[in-house]
Amino acid sequence: MTDTIFSKIIRREIPADIVYEDDLCLAFRDVNPQAPIHILVIPKQAIEKLADAKTNDQEMLGHLMLKAGDIARQEGVGDAFRLVVNNGAAVGQTVFHLHLHILAGRDFNWPPG
Ligand code: 5GP
Repeated sequence: MTDTIFSKIIRREIPADIVYEDDLCLAFRDVNPQAPIHILVIPKQAIEKLADAKTNDQEMLGHLMLKAGDIARQEGVGDAFRLVVNNGAAVGQTVFHLHLHILAGRDFNWPPG
């Protein structure tokens, strides 16, 4: 996998507004927020996109989901947030390091655009 801007954030080579970190993941505020709360949760393990995950990534994937819930609660929006994963350029993925978007703090339409 090629190096991405998110790898540089993990290595602290570029700054980010980090809200959570542990051995498996890092969470930081999106530089171009699409909602009042817009946080990215990324695995420290380099994986380009969700569809590349394998059975042995199950623990990491579950960890990201659980932490997304914790972080949303920590941000005061545990009862109302949207979790988005863009998988592939055709649906809007621009950074090819798996990430969950936590979006909250405004109204959301369904179906999503
Ligand atoms: P994607 O479009 O791949 O699902 O989402 C990538 C997200 O990363 C975008 O929402 C974009 O604003 C965010 N992003 C891109 N570069 C940076 C950066 O250098 N710092 C932060 N905090 N977010 C970034």
